[in-house]
Amino acid sequence: MISYMRNQRLVTRSDEKVRETRKAGKVYYTCDECGFAYETKEFAQKCEDWCSEHHSCSLEITKHAVEV
Ligand SMILES: [Zn+2]
Repeated sequence: MISYMRNQRLVTRSDEKVRETRKAGKVYYTCDECGFAYETKEFAQKCEDWCSEHHSCSLEITKHAVEV
């Protein structure tokens, strides 16, 4: 029951599946698919959407990635 509710939440609130990483007082958002880190949740979400759909990275998105 609990895992079912969790899955529902992942599907309905896709913006919450982006992983947050804290380092040196800054927050980064990482793509679960390729591991790139971004300063904004928007790019991380875009990357994750792209990666899970195309199974490869988009240069247009990953050029915004930051070193963590
Ligand atoms: Zn990605």
